[in-house]
Amino acid sequence: MRFLIVDDSSTMRRIIINTLKKLGHHECYEAGNGREGVERLATTPVDMIITDWNMPEMSGIDFVRAVRANEATRQLPVLMVTTNAAEEDIVEALKAGVSNYVVKPFTPDTIKEKIQAALRMAPSRTR
Ligand SMILES: [Mg+2]
Repeated sequence: MRFLIVDDSSTMRRIIINTLKKLGHHECYEAGNGREGVERLATTPVDMIITDWNMPEMSGIDFVRAVRANEATRQLPVLMVTTNAAEEDIVEALKAGVSNYVVKPFTPDTIKEKIQAALRMAPSRTR
């Protein structure tokens, strides 16, 4: 499976990619903010997106809205990994079209479980 990891922290991207590699997923692409993520998706098809919320230029929430507004990417599972843990933030993220949500800091087991859950939910997405 191909993953796109969108986070302005290269350290966080590394942690997520190392976790994915341990799970057997070696095809991982990176972007430093939502705008770079949109550009990357225009040239590189992926099977799942893992994105941060707080980023310069284009936030994760605006990135998710852009992903859902594009016919080519609207069905992709999107996992949001963020420090924004307030209930209203989670509700906003789900409204924007996030498939699942991980609050930092996370353990490898948590992200593994959330990735698997997001993949299970993907086929039933209808919007
Ligand atoms: Mg950030």
